[in-house]
Amino acid sequence: MCGIIGYIGKKKALPILLEGLKALEYRGYDSSGVAFLKGKNVNIIKAVGPIVALEKKLNLDEDTFVGIGHTRWATHGVPNEVNSHPHTSGAVTLVHNGIIENYNELKSFLEVEGVKFKSETDSEVAAALINYFYEKSKNILEAIQKFKGKAKGSYAIGLIVSNDVNKIYVIKNMSPLIIGISEDGHYLASDVPAILNRTDKYITLLDGEYAEISFESLVLYDNEGKEKCIEIKTFQGDATCIDKGKFEHFMLKEINEEPDVVKTILTKYLVNDALKELPDLSKYRGVTIVACGSAMHAGLIGKYIIESHLNIPVTVEIASEFKYKKLLLNKEDVVIAISQSGETADTLAAVKIAKSVGCHTIGIVNVKESSIAREVDNVVYTLAGSEIAVATTKAYLAQVIILYLMGFRNEMNKTMSTSFLKIPNQISKLITSYDYEKIASYIEKNESVFFIGRLIDYALCMEGSLKLKEVSYIHSEAYAAGELKHGTISLITDGTPVFAILTDQNIADKTISNIKEVKVRGAKVILIVSESLDNVSKDVYDEKIVIPSIYKEIDSLLSVIPLQLIAYYCAKLRGCAIDKPRNLAKSVTVE
Ligand code: GLU
Repeated sequence: MCGIIGYIGKKKALPILLEGLKALEYRGYDSSGVAFLKGKNVNIIKAVGPIVALEKKLNLDEDTFVGIGHTRWATHGVPNEVNSHPHTSGAVTLVHNGIIENYNELKSFLEVEGVKFKSETDSEVAAALINYFYEKSKNILEAIQKFKGKAKGSYAIGLIVSNDVNKIYVIKNMSPLIIGISEDGHYLASDVPAILNRTDKYITLLDGEYAEISFESLVLYDNEGKEKCIEIKTFQGDATCIDKGKFEHFMLKEINEEPDVVKTILTKYLVNDALKELPDLSKYRGVTIVACGSAMHAGLIGKYIIESHLNIPVTVEIASEFKYKKLLLNKEDVVIAISQSGETADTLAAVKIAKSVGCHTIGIVNVKESSIAREVDNVVYTLAGSEIAVATTKAYLAQVIILYLMGFRNEMNKTMSTSFLKIPNQISKLITSYDYEKIASYIEKNESVFFIGRLIDYALCMEGSLKLKEVSYIHSEAYAAGELKHGTISLITDGTPVFAILTDQNIADKTISNIKEVKVRGAKVILIVSESLDNVSKDVYDEKIVIPSIYKEIDSLLSVIPLQLIAYYCAKLRGCAIDKPRNLAKSVTVE
Protein backbone atom coordinates (compact mmCIF):
# COMPACT_ATOMS: atom_id res chain seq x y z
CA MET A 1 0.00 0.00 0.00
CA CYS A 2 1.69 3.25 0.83
CA GLY A 3 5.42 3.29 1.27
CA ILE A 4 7.86 4.61 3.80
CA ILE A 5 11.48 5.47 3.21
CA GLY A 6 14.12 7.16 5.32
CA TYR A 7 17.82 7.81 5.49
CA ILE A 8 20.37 9.04 7.99
CA GLY A 9 24.04 8.95 7.06
CA LYS A 10 26.97 10.45 5.19
CA LYS A 11 25.28 10.93 1.84
CA LYS A 12 22.89 13.62 0.75
CA ALA A 13 19.46 12.39 1.76
CA LEU A 14 17.10 13.71 -0.93
CA PRO A 15 18.35 11.64 -3.90
CA ILE A 16 18.14 8.54 -1.68
CA LEU A 17 14.61 9.36 -0.54
CA LEU A 18 13.50 10.02 -4.10
CA GLU A 19 15.04 6.79 -5.38
CA GLY A 20 13.32 4.87 -2.58
CA LEU A 21 9.95 6.50 -3.22
CA LYS A 22 10.22 5.57 -6.88
CA ALA A 23 11.05 2.00 -5.95
CA LEU A 24 7.96 1.91 -3.71
CA GLU A 25 5.69 3.41 -6.36
CA TYR A 26 4.39 0.01 -7.43
CA ARG A 27 2.64 -0.39 -4.08
CA GLY A 28 0.10 2.22 -5.10
CA TYR A 29 -0.30 5.79 -3.84
CA ASP A 30 -2.04 9.04 -4.55
CA SER A 31 0.38 11.61 -3.12
CA SER A 32 3.88 11.80 -1.70
CA GLY A 33 6.12 13.88 0.48
CA VAL A 34 9.44 14.20 2.28
CA ALA A 35 10.71 15.82 5.46
CA PHE A 36 14.38 16.57 5.98
CA LEU A 37 16.49 18.23 8.60
CA LYS A 38 18.68 21.26 7.94
CA GLY A 39 20.23 22.19 11.22
CA LYS A 40 17.34 22.16 13.65
CA ASN A 41 14.82 23.04 10.97
CA VAL A 42 12.46 20.47 9.58
CA ASN A 43 11.62 21.14 5.94
CA ILE A 44 8.58 19.50 4.40
CA ILE A 45 7.73 19.17 0.72
CA LYS A 46 4.62 17.39 -0.54
CA ALA A 47 2.83 16.86 -3.82
CA VAL A 48 -0.36 15.23 -5.02
CA GLY A 49 -0.17 12.78 -7.92
CA PRO A 50 2.88 11.00 -9.33
CA ILE A 51 6.33 11.14 -7.70
CA VAL A 52 7.56 13.35 -10.55
CA ALA A 53 5.30 16.10 -9.18
CA LEU A 54 7.29 15.88 -5.94
CA GLU A 55 10.59 15.54 -7.78
CA LYS A 56 9.97 18.87 -9.53
CA LYS A 57 9.75 20.58 -6.15
CA LEU A 58 12.96 19.06 -4.72
CA ASN A 59 16.47 20.42 -4.85
CA LEU A 60 18.34 17.14 -4.83
CA ASP A 61 21.57 18.89 -3.98
CA GLU A 62 20.18 20.12 -0.67
CA ASP A 63 22.68 19.78 2.18
CA THR A 64 20.66 17.41 4.25
CA PHE A 65 21.69 14.05 5.63
CA VAL A 66 18.56 13.07 7.56
CA GLY A 67 15.15 12.59 5.97
CA ILE A 68 11.95 10.59 5.78
CA GLY A 69 9.64 10.11 2.80
CA HIS A 70 6.19 8.70 2.13
CA THR A 71 3.83 7.64 -0.59
CA ARG A 72 0.26 7.88 0.68
CA TRP A 73 -2.70 5.73 -0.17
CA ALA A 74 -5.46 7.75 1.46
CA THR A 75 -7.62 6.05 4.05
CA HIS A 76 -8.62 9.05 6.20
CA GLY A 77 -9.15 12.25 4.29
CA VAL A 78 -9.10 12.88 0.56
CA PRO A 79 -5.81 12.77 -1.34
CA ASN A 80 -4.68 16.39 -1.19
CA GLU A 81 -1.51 18.17 -0.11
CA VAL A 82 -2.71 18.96 3.42
CA ASN A 83 -3.55 15.33 4.08
CA SER A 84 -0.32 13.99 2.53
CA HIS A 85 2.52 13.06 4.79
CA PRO A 86 4.80 14.00 6.53
CA HIS A 87 2.70 15.49 9.31
CA THR A 88 4.08 17.75 12.01
CA SER A 89 2.88 18.43 15.51
CA GLY A 90 5.17 20.56 17.66
CA ALA A 91 8.64 19.05 17.56
CA VAL A 92 7.49 15.78 16.00
CA THR A 93 7.32 15.13 12.26
CA LEU A 94 6.32 11.71 10.98
CA VAL A 95 5.29 9.53 8.09
CA HIS A 96 2.80 6.79 8.80
CA ASN A 97 1.55 3.73 7.03
CA GLY A 98 -1.55 2.05 8.38
CA ILE A 99 -4.64 3.12 10.26
CA ILE A 100 -4.95 4.45 13.81
CA GLU A 101 -8.32 2.88 14.55
CA ASN A 102 -9.16 4.94 17.65
CA TYR A 103 -8.00 8.22 16.10
CA ASN A 104 -11.37 9.90 16.67
CA GLU A 105 -11.27 9.31 20.37
CA LEU A 106 -7.61 10.38 20.56
CA LYS A 107 -8.30 13.47 18.47
CA SER A 108 -11.13 14.56 20.77
CA PHE A 109 -8.86 14.11 23.76
CA LEU A 110 -6.07 16.15 22.16
CA GLU A 111 -8.46 18.89 21.04
CA VAL A 112 -9.57 19.31 24.63
CA GLU A 113 -5.87 19.67 25.45
CA GLY A 114 -5.71 22.52 22.96
CA VAL A 115 -4.18 20.77 19.95
CA LYS A 116 -5.31 22.16 16.58
CA PHE A 117 -5.37 19.86 13.55
CA LYS A 118 -4.71 20.86 9.97
CA SER A 119 -5.52 17.63 8.16
CA GLU A 120 -8.29 15.04 8.27
CA THR A 121 -5.85 12.18 8.76
CA ASP A 122 -5.43 9.69 11.54
CA SER A 123 -1.68 10.10 10.99
CA GLU A 124 -1.62 13.70 12.19
CA VAL A 125 -3.35 12.45 15.34
CA ALA A 126 -0.45 10.00 15.81
CA ALA A 127 2.04 12.88 15.44
CA ALA A 128 0.07 15.01 17.91
CA LEU A 129 -0.20 12.24 20.47
CA ILE A 130 3.53 11.52 20.38
CA ASN A 131 4.25 15.24 20.62
CA TYR A 132 1.82 15.55 23.53
CA PHE A 133 3.76 12.96 25.50
CA TYR A 134 7.08 14.37 24.31
CA GLU A 135 6.23 17.84 25.57
CA LYS A 136 5.55 16.39 29.00
CA SER A 137 8.75 14.38 29.43
CA LYS A 138 11.08 15.76 26.74
CA ASN A 139 12.01 12.11 26.28
CA ILE A 140 11.03 10.80 22.87
CA LEU A 141 11.49 7.12 23.71
CA GLU A 142 9.16 7.49 26.67
CA ALA A 143 6.69 9.34 24.44
CA ILE A 144 6.80 6.49 21.92
CA GLN A 145 6.10 3.93 24.64
CA LYS A 146 3.14 5.97 25.87
CA PHE A 147 1.86 6.38 22.32
CA LYS A 148 1.97 2.59 21.85
CA GLY A 149 -0.08 2.20 24.98
CA LYS A 150 -2.83 4.47 23.69
CA ALA A 151 -2.95 4.02 19.90
CA LYS A 152 -4.89 1.08 18.47
CA GLY A 153 -4.48 -0.16 14.94
CA SER A 154 -1.67 -0.58 12.46
CA TYR A 155 1.29 1.67 12.11
CA ALA A 156 4.71 1.76 10.56
CA ILE A 157 6.10 5.14 11.50
CA GLY A 158 9.26 7.02 10.61
CA LEU A 159 9.77 10.02 12.84
CA ILE A 160 12.13 12.94 13.30
CA VAL A 161 12.27 15.39 16.18
CA SER A 162 13.34 18.96 15.54
CA ASN A 163 15.41 19.21 18.75
CA ASP A 164 17.09 15.90 18.19
CA VAL A 165 18.77 16.49 14.87
CA ASN A 166 20.86 13.40 14.40
CA LYS A 167 18.23 10.72 14.85
CA ILE A 168 15.36 8.99 13.17
CA TYR A 169 12.92 6.93 15.21
CA VAL A 170 10.78 4.11 13.86
CA ILE A 171 7.81 2.30 15.37
CA LYS A 172 6.14 -0.79 13.97
CA ASN A 173 2.84 -2.48 14.57
CA MET A 174 1.13 -4.65 11.97
CA SER A 175 2.44 -2.66 9.01
CA PRO A 176 5.66 -3.56 7.24
CA LEU A 177 8.92 -1.77 8.08
CA ILE A 178 12.57 -2.72 7.84
CA ILE A 179 15.81 -0.93 8.69
CA GLY A 180 18.62 -1.15 6.14
CA ILE A 181 22.23 -1.11 7.28
CA SER A 182 25.18 0.04 5.21
CA GLU A 183 28.61 1.60 5.60
CA ASP A 184 27.31 5.04 4.72
CA GLY A 185 24.36 5.05 7.11
CA HIS A 186 20.96 3.61 7.96
CA TYR A 187 17.85 3.34 5.86
CA LEU A 188 14.25 2.63 6.63
CA ALA A 189 11.76 1.25 4.15
CA SER A 190 8.52 -0.62 3.78
CA ASP A 191 10.34 -3.42 2.00
CA VAL A 192 13.91 -4.41 1.24
CA PRO A 193 13.73 -4.08 -2.58
CA ALA A 194 13.15 -0.33 -2.08
CA ILE A 195 16.72 0.03 -0.79
CA LEU A 196 18.41 -2.84 -2.60
CA ASN A 197 20.41 -0.41 -4.73
CA ARG A 198 21.98 0.78 -1.48
CA THR A 199 22.23 -2.30 0.73
CA ASP A 200 21.02 -5.87 1.13
CA LYS A 201 21.67 -5.92 4.90
CA TYR A 202 18.66 -5.23 7.03
CA ILE A 203 16.81 -5.94 10.22
CA THR A 204 13.13 -6.61 10.67
CA LEU A 205 11.05 -5.28 13.53
CA LEU A 206 8.34 -7.32 15.22
CA ASP A 207 4.99 -5.82 16.13
CA GLY A 208 5.31 -3.42 19.03
CA GLU A 209 9.02 -2.83 18.50
CA TYR A 210 10.69 0.53 17.91
CA ALA A 211 14.19 1.80 17.25
CA GLU A 212 16.42 4.82 17.61
CA ILE A 213 18.64 5.28 14.59
CA SER A 214 21.59 7.58 14.12
CA PHE A 215 24.34 7.51 11.54
CA GLU A 216 26.63 5.36 13.70
CA SER A 217 24.21 3.51 15.93
CA LEU A 218 21.02 1.52 15.92
CA VAL A 219 19.22 0.70 19.14
CA LEU A 220 16.25 -1.65 18.94
CA TYR A 221 13.61 -1.87 21.68
CA ASP A 222 11.12 -4.66 22.22
CA ASN A 223 7.44 -4.16 22.95
CA GLU A 224 8.18 -3.56 26.65
CA GLY A 225 10.86 -1.00 25.92
CA LYS A 226 13.83 -3.25 26.72
CA GLU A 227 16.87 -3.03 24.49
CA LYS A 228 17.03 -5.97 22.13
CA CYS A 229 19.84 -7.71 20.26
CA ILE A 230 20.04 -6.85 16.61
CA GLU A 231 20.00 -9.68 14.13
CA ILE A 232 21.25 -8.52 10.75
CA LYS A 233 19.90 -10.43 7.76
CA THR A 234 21.05 -10.49 4.17
CA PHE A 235 18.28 -10.23 1.62
CA GLN A 236 17.90 -13.49 -0.29
CA GLY A 237 14.90 -12.56 -2.40
CA ASP A 238 14.59 -11.64 -5.99
CA ALA A 239 16.15 -8.34 -6.87
CA THR A 240 14.88 -8.29 -10.44
CA CYS A 241 15.33 -4.75 -11.59
CA ILE A 242 12.15 -2.82 -11.91
CA ASP A 243 12.28 -2.43 -15.65
CA LYS A 244 9.60 -2.92 -18.31
CA GLY A 245 12.13 -4.14 -20.87
CA LYS A 246 10.62 -4.24 -24.36
CA PHE A 247 7.05 -4.15 -23.05
CA GLU A 248 4.81 -1.13 -22.93
CA HIS A 249 3.45 -2.04 -19.49
CA PHE A 250 4.49 -4.20 -16.54
CA MET A 251 1.22 -6.10 -16.80
CA LEU A 252 2.03 -7.24 -20.32
CA LYS A 253 5.60 -8.03 -19.32
CA GLU A 254 4.40 -10.09 -16.39
CA ILE A 255 1.88 -12.05 -18.48
CA ASN A 256 4.71 -12.81 -20.89
CA GLU A 257 6.81 -14.04 -17.96
CA GLU A 258 4.21 -16.65 -17.05
CA PRO A 259 5.77 -19.52 -19.03
CA ASP A 260 9.08 -18.96 -17.20
CA VAL A 261 7.43 -18.63 -13.81
CA VAL A 262 5.58 -21.92 -14.28
CA LYS A 263 8.79 -23.54 -15.56
CA THR A 264 10.68 -22.41 -12.46
CA ILE A 265 8.05 -23.91 -10.15
CA LEU A 266 7.76 -27.16 -12.06
CA THR A 267 11.52 -27.55 -12.34
CA LYS A 268 11.83 -27.27 -8.60
CA TYR A 269 8.99 -29.61 -7.67
CA LEU A 270 8.86 -32.09 -10.54
CA VAL A 271 12.21 -32.12 -12.34
CA ASN A 272 14.29 -31.75 -9.19
CA ASP A 273 11.94 -34.02 -7.31
CA ALA A 274 11.01 -31.72 -4.46
CA LEU A 275 7.27 -32.42 -4.57
CA LYS A 276 7.36 -34.11 -1.18
CA GLU A 277 8.70 -30.87 0.31
CA LEU A 278 5.22 -29.45 -0.20
CA PRO A 279 3.03 -30.01 2.84
CA ASP A 280 0.93 -33.15 2.79
CA LEU A 281 -2.58 -31.80 3.20
CA SER A 282 -4.12 -35.27 3.41
CA LYS A 283 -3.08 -35.58 7.05
CA TYR A 284 -5.48 -32.83 8.14
CA ARG A 285 -9.16 -33.05 8.96
CA GLY A 286 -9.93 -30.10 6.73
CA VAL A 287 -8.35 -27.19 4.92
CA THR A 288 -9.32 -23.54 5.26
CA ILE A 289 -7.90 -21.18 2.70
CA VAL A 290 -7.82 -17.49 3.65
CA ALA A 291 -7.02 -14.83 1.10
CA CYS A 292 -8.21 -11.66 -0.60
CA GLY A 293 -8.85 -10.64 -4.22
CA SER A 294 -7.13 -12.72 -6.87
CA ALA A 295 -5.44 -14.84 -4.22
CA MET A 296 -8.90 -15.79 -2.99
CA HIS A 297 -9.82 -16.79 -6.55
CA ALA A 298 -6.69 -18.93 -6.68
CA GLY A 299 -7.90 -20.46 -3.41
CA LEU A 300 -11.23 -21.36 -5.03
CA ILE A 301 -9.39 -23.30 -7.72
CA GLY A 302 -7.36 -24.92 -4.94
CA LYS A 303 -10.60 -25.99 -3.31
CA TYR A 304 -11.73 -27.95 -6.37
CA ILE A 305 -8.33 -29.57 -6.89
CA ILE A 306 -7.66 -30.46 -3.25
CA GLU A 307 -11.17 -31.77 -2.62
CA SER A 308 -11.19 -33.96 -5.69
CA HIS A 309 -7.64 -35.29 -5.33
CA LEU A 310 -7.22 -35.53 -1.56
CA ASN A 311 -10.84 -36.07 -0.51
CA ILE A 312 -10.76 -33.55 2.28
CA PRO A 313 -13.15 -30.64 2.70
CA VAL A 314 -11.80 -27.22 1.79
CA THR A 315 -13.37 -23.93 2.81
CA VAL A 316 -12.27 -20.72 1.16
CA GLU A 317 -12.67 -17.66 3.34
CA ILE A 318 -12.32 -14.00 2.43
CA ALA A 319 -9.71 -12.93 4.96
CA SER A 320 -11.48 -9.70 5.92
CA GLU A 321 -14.61 -11.72 6.80
CA PHE A 322 -12.80 -14.60 8.50
CA LYS A 323 -11.66 -12.37 11.32
CA TYR A 324 -15.15 -11.49 12.40
CA LYS A 325 -17.15 -14.67 11.98
CA LYS A 326 -17.69 -17.63 14.20
CA LEU A 327 -14.92 -20.05 13.40
CA LEU A 328 -15.42 -23.78 13.48
CA LEU A 329 -11.74 -24.56 13.16
CA ASN A 330 -9.95 -27.05 15.32
CA LYS A 331 -6.38 -28.19 15.84
CA GLU A 332 -6.65 -30.91 13.21
CA ASP A 333 -7.30 -28.36 10.49
CA VAL A 334 -4.73 -26.57 8.42
CA VAL A 335 -5.11 -22.95 7.41
CA ILE A 336 -3.50 -21.85 4.16
CA ALA A 337 -2.95 -18.12 3.70
CA ILE A 338 -2.35 -16.94 0.14
CA SER A 339 -0.85 -13.52 -0.54
CA GLN A 340 1.42 -12.19 -3.26
CA SER A 341 3.02 -9.51 -1.10
CA GLY A 342 2.91 -11.47 2.12
CA GLU A 343 1.84 -8.20 3.73
CA THR A 344 -1.92 -8.29 3.11
CA ALA A 345 -3.16 -7.05 6.47
CA ASP A 346 -6.45 -8.97 6.42
CA THR A 347 -4.71 -12.23 5.56
CA LEU A 348 -1.99 -11.67 8.14
CA ALA A 349 -4.62 -11.07 10.81
CA ALA A 350 -6.37 -14.31 9.75
CA VAL A 351 -3.10 -16.23 10.16
CA LYS A 352 -2.73 -14.91 13.69
CA ILE A 353 -6.26 -16.03 14.54
CA ALA A 354 -5.65 -19.48 13.06
CA LYS A 355 -2.49 -19.83 15.13
CA SER A 356 -4.28 -18.80 18.28
CA VAL A 357 -6.74 -21.65 17.73
CA GLY A 358 -3.79 -24.03 17.40
CA CYS A 359 -4.13 -24.77 13.68
CA HIS A 360 -1.09 -25.49 11.58
CA THR A 361 -0.60 -22.57 9.17
CA ILE A 362 0.86 -22.59 5.69
CA GLY A 363 1.61 -19.49 3.64
CA ILE A 364 1.65 -19.40 -0.15
CA VAL A 365 3.55 -16.17 -0.59
CA ASN A 366 5.58 -14.50 -3.31
CA VAL A 367 7.67 -11.98 -1.40
CA LYS A 368 10.44 -13.55 0.64
CA GLU A 369 10.81 -12.60 4.27
CA SER A 370 7.45 -10.82 4.21
CA SER A 371 5.25 -10.65 7.30
CA ILE A 372 3.04 -13.64 6.39
CA ALA A 373 6.11 -15.65 5.36
CA ARG A 374 7.53 -15.04 8.81
CA GLU A 375 4.30 -15.63 10.70
CA VAL A 376 3.19 -19.00 9.27
CA ASP A 377 4.49 -22.38 10.41
CA ASN A 378 5.37 -23.41 6.89
CA VAL A 379 5.95 -21.12 3.92
CA VAL A 380 5.78 -22.13 0.27
CA TYR A 381 7.18 -19.46 -2.01
CA THR A 382 5.50 -19.01 -5.37
CA LEU A 383 8.78 -18.13 -7.12
CA ALA A 384 7.06 -15.66 -9.44
CA GLY A 385 9.73 -12.96 -9.10
CA SER A 386 8.92 -9.29 -8.49
CA GLU A 387 5.48 -8.37 -9.64
CA ILE A 388 5.10 -4.66 -10.25
CA ALA A 389 1.74 -4.20 -12.00
CA VAL A 390 -0.92 -3.68 -9.36
CA ALA A 391 -3.24 -6.19 -11.04
CA THR A 392 -1.67 -9.57 -10.43
CA THR A 393 -1.15 -12.01 -13.29
CA LYS A 394 1.97 -14.15 -12.95
CA ALA A 395 1.82 -14.32 -9.15
CA TYR A 396 -1.82 -15.43 -9.31
CA LEU A 397 -0.92 -18.16 -11.80
CA ALA A 398 2.00 -19.22 -9.60
CA GLN A 399 -0.39 -19.55 -6.63
CA VAL A 400 -2.69 -21.71 -8.74
CA ILE A 401 0.19 -23.95 -9.85
CA ILE A 402 1.35 -24.42 -6.26
CA LEU A 403 -2.20 -25.37 -5.23
CA TYR A 404 -2.40 -27.86 -8.12
CA LEU A 405 0.88 -29.42 -7.01
CA MET A 406 -0.36 -29.65 -3.42
CA GLY A 407 -3.51 -31.36 -4.67
CA PHE A 408 -1.63 -33.79 -6.92
CA ARG A 409 1.23 -34.31 -4.43
CA ASN A 410 0.34 -37.84 -3.38
CA GLU A 411 -0.68 -39.22 -6.74
CA MET A 412 1.85 -37.59 -9.05
CA ASN A 413 3.23 -40.10 -11.51
CA LYS A 414 5.35 -39.94 -14.63
CA THR A 415 2.42 -39.36 -16.99
CA MET A 416 0.98 -36.56 -14.87
CA SER A 417 4.37 -35.01 -14.38
CA THR A 418 4.98 -35.02 -18.15
CA SER A 419 1.60 -33.32 -18.62
CA PHE A 420 2.41 -30.62 -16.08
CA LEU A 421 5.73 -29.96 -17.76
CA LYS A 422 3.92 -29.12 -20.99
CA ILE A 423 2.19 -26.11 -19.39
CA PRO A 424 4.92 -23.48 -20.03
CA ASN A 425 5.07 -24.16 -23.77
CA GLN A 426 1.33 -24.17 -24.09
CA ILE A 427 1.10 -20.83 -22.28
CA SER A 428 3.67 -19.37 -24.70
CA LYS A 429 1.62 -20.65 -27.62
CA LEU A 430 -1.60 -19.24 -26.20
CA ILE A 431 -0.02 -15.82 -25.69
CA THR A 432 0.87 -15.56 -29.37
CA SER A 433 -1.93 -17.51 -31.06
CA TYR A 434 -4.76 -14.99 -30.95
CA ASP A 435 -5.28 -11.35 -31.66
CA TYR A 436 -6.45 -10.45 -28.17
CA GLU A 437 -6.48 -6.75 -28.95
CA LYS A 438 -9.08 -7.43 -31.65
CA ILE A 439 -11.21 -9.44 -29.22
CA ALA A 440 -10.86 -6.64 -26.69
CA SER A 441 -12.07 -4.17 -29.31
CA TYR A 442 -15.39 -6.03 -29.44
CA ILE A 443 -16.09 -5.38 -25.79
CA GLU A 444 -14.23 -2.21 -24.86
CA LYS A 445 -17.28 0.01 -25.50
CA ASN A 446 -19.62 -2.10 -23.38
CA GLU A 447 -20.84 -1.07 -19.97
CA SER A 448 -21.22 -4.57 -18.66
CA VAL A 449 -19.69 -7.96 -19.39
CA PHE A 450 -20.42 -11.46 -18.05
CA PHE A 451 -18.19 -14.44 -17.46
CA ILE A 452 -19.81 -17.85 -17.09
CA GLY A 453 -18.50 -21.35 -16.37
CA ARG A 454 -18.94 -24.19 -13.95
CA LEU A 455 -16.69 -25.47 -11.12
CA ILE A 456 -13.02 -24.64 -11.83
CA ASP A 457 -14.13 -22.71 -14.90
CA TYR A 458 -16.32 -20.61 -12.64
CA ALA A 459 -13.39 -19.87 -10.32
CA LEU A 460 -11.42 -18.77 -13.39
CA CYS A 461 -14.35 -16.61 -14.51
CA MET A 462 -14.14 -14.79 -11.18
CA GLU A 463 -10.52 -13.97 -11.82
CA GLY A 464 -11.17 -12.98 -15.46
CA SER A 465 -13.95 -10.68 -14.33
CA LEU A 466 -11.86 -9.12 -11.58
CA LYS A 467 -8.96 -8.50 -13.97
CA LEU A 468 -11.25 -6.74 -16.45
CA LYS A 469 -12.77 -4.55 -13.73
CA GLU A 470 -9.42 -3.69 -12.15
CA VAL A 471 -7.63 -2.50 -15.23
CA SER A 472 -10.27 -1.45 -17.77
CA TYR A 473 -12.97 -0.18 -15.37
CA ILE A 474 -15.64 -2.07 -17.33
CA HIS A 475 -18.21 -3.51 -14.99
CA SER A 476 -18.37 -7.27 -15.17
CA GLU A 477 -19.73 -10.21 -13.26
CA ALA A 478 -18.72 -13.81 -12.99
CA TYR A 479 -21.50 -16.31 -12.67
CA ALA A 480 -21.70 -20.02 -12.20
CA ALA A 481 -23.18 -20.87 -15.60
CA GLY A 482 -26.16 -22.72 -14.13
CA GLU A 483 -26.97 -19.87 -11.77
CA LEU A 484 -27.54 -17.18 -14.38
CA LYS A 485 -31.11 -18.24 -15.11
CA HIS A 486 -31.99 -17.75 -11.43
CA GLY A 487 -32.00 -13.99 -11.84
CA THR A 488 -29.08 -12.38 -13.60
CA ILE A 489 -30.08 -13.48 -17.08
CA SER A 490 -32.44 -10.49 -17.02
CA LEU A 491 -29.36 -8.34 -17.66
CA ILE A 492 -28.49 -10.09 -20.91
CA THR A 493 -29.66 -8.00 -23.84
CA ASP A 494 -28.69 -7.63 -27.46
CA GLY A 495 -24.92 -7.47 -27.75
CA THR A 496 -24.03 -8.09 -24.07
CA PRO A 497 -20.59 -9.73 -24.14
CA VAL A 498 -20.47 -13.07 -22.34
CA PHE A 499 -17.22 -14.97 -21.91
CA ALA A 500 -18.01 -18.65 -21.53
CA ILE A 501 -15.32 -21.04 -20.28
CA LEU A 502 -15.70 -24.68 -21.17
CA THR A 503 -12.92 -27.03 -20.15
CA ASP A 504 -14.56 -29.72 -18.04
CA GLN A 505 -15.70 -32.79 -19.97
CA ASN A 506 -18.05 -33.94 -17.18
CA ILE A 507 -20.27 -30.89 -17.25
CA ALA A 508 -19.70 -29.67 -20.81
CA ASP A 509 -23.24 -30.42 -22.01
CA LYS A 510 -24.75 -28.51 -19.11
CA THR A 511 -22.53 -25.49 -19.69
CA ILE A 512 -23.30 -25.54 -23.43
CA SER A 513 -27.02 -25.38 -22.58
CA ASN A 514 -26.35 -22.35 -20.40
CA ILE A 515 -24.37 -20.69 -23.19
CA LYS A 516 -27.30 -21.27 -25.55
CA GLU A 517 -29.62 -19.64 -23.02
CA VAL A 518 -27.65 -16.38 -23.22
CA LYS A 519 -27.00 -16.63 -26.94
CA VAL A 520 -30.70 -16.77 -27.81
CA ARG A 521 -31.21 -13.65 -25.69
CA GLY A 522 -28.79 -11.70 -27.84
CA ALA A 523 -25.48 -12.18 -26.00
CA LYS A 524 -22.24 -11.89 -27.91
CA VAL A 525 -20.49 -15.06 -26.77
CA ILE A 526 -16.73 -15.40 -26.60
CA LEU A 527 -16.12 -19.07 -26.03
CA ILE A 528 -12.94 -20.26 -24.35
CA VAL A 529 -12.92 -23.98 -24.90
CA SER A 530 -10.37 -26.74 -24.45
CA GLU A 531 -9.24 -28.49 -27.60
CA SER A 532 -10.79 -31.79 -26.53
CA LEU A 533 -14.24 -30.15 -26.34
CA ASP A 534 -13.84 -28.08 -29.46
CA ASN A 535 -16.87 -29.44 -31.28
CA VAL A 536 -19.40 -26.86 -30.12
CA SER A 537 -21.71 -25.85 -32.97
CA LYS A 538 -20.91 -22.48 -34.53
CA ASP A 539 -24.28 -20.92 -33.75
CA VAL A 540 -23.45 -21.01 -30.01
CA TYR A 541 -20.60 -18.49 -30.07
CA ASP A 542 -19.34 -15.41 -31.89
CA GLU A 543 -15.63 -15.72 -31.13
CA LYS A 544 -13.66 -18.75 -30.05
CA ILE A 545 -10.36 -19.25 -28.27
CA VAL A 546 -9.16 -22.83 -28.14
CA ILE A 547 -7.09 -23.92 -25.14
CA PRO A 548 -4.63 -26.72 -25.84
CA SER A 549 -5.62 -29.95 -24.13
CA ILE A 550 -2.95 -31.23 -21.79
CA TYR A 551 -4.52 -33.20 -18.98
CA LYS A 552 -7.96 -32.96 -17.38
CA GLU A 553 -8.05 -30.04 -14.94
CA ILE A 554 -4.76 -28.61 -16.22
CA ASP A 555 -6.60 -27.38 -19.31
CA SER A 556 -8.80 -25.17 -17.16
CA LEU A 557 -6.00 -23.11 -15.68
CA LEU A 558 -4.71 -22.17 -19.12
CA SER A 559 -7.91 -20.28 -19.84
CA VAL A 560 -6.83 -17.49 -17.51
CA ILE A 561 -4.12 -16.42 -20.00
CA PRO A 562 -6.57 -15.14 -22.66
CA LEU A 563 -8.66 -13.51 -19.94
CA GLN A 564 -5.66 -11.61 -18.59
CA LEU A 565 -4.62 -10.50 -22.06
CA ILE A 566 -8.11 -9.38 -23.05
CA ALA A 567 -8.37 -7.35 -19.82
CA TYR A 568 -5.00 -5.79 -20.62
CA TYR A 569 -5.95 -4.82 -24.17
CA CYS A 570 -9.35 -3.49 -23.10
CA ALA A 571 -7.59 -1.23 -20.62
CA LYS A 572 -5.14 -0.15 -23.30
CA LEU A 573 -7.89 0.65 -25.81
CA ARG A 574 -9.72 2.65 -23.15
CA GLY A 575 -6.56 4.57 -22.24
CA CYS A 576 -6.51 3.39 -18.61
CA ALA A 577 -3.54 3.54 -16.23
CA ILE A 578 -2.91 -0.17 -16.69
CA ASP A 579 -0.11 -0.73 -14.18
CA LYS A 580 -1.58 1.49 -11.50
CA PRO A 581 -5.34 1.40 -11.79
CA ARG A 582 -7.26 4.13 -10.07
CA ASN A 583 -7.79 3.67 -6.30
CA LEU A 584 -5.91 0.37 -6.14
CA ALA A 585 -2.76 -0.52 -4.26
CA LYS A 586 -0.44 -3.46 -4.76
CA SER A 587 0.18 -4.45 -1.23
CA VAL A 588 -2.91 -3.82 0.88
CA THR A 589 -1.42 -3.24 4.29
CA VAL A 590 -4.54 -1.83 5.91
CA GLU A 591 -7.45 -3.95 7.13
N1 GLU B 1 -4.16 6.40 7.28
C1 GLU B 1 -3.16 7.29 6.78
C2 GLU B 1 -3.74 8.35 5.86
O1 GLU B 1 -4.84 8.23 5.37
C3 GLU B 1 -2.00 6.55 6.13
C4 GLU B 1 -2.43 5.91 4.86
C5 GLU B 1 -1.31 5.11 4.22
O2 GLU B 1 -0.97 4.04 4.75
O3 GLU B 1 -0.84 5.57 3.17
O4 GLU B 1 -3.07 9.32 5.65
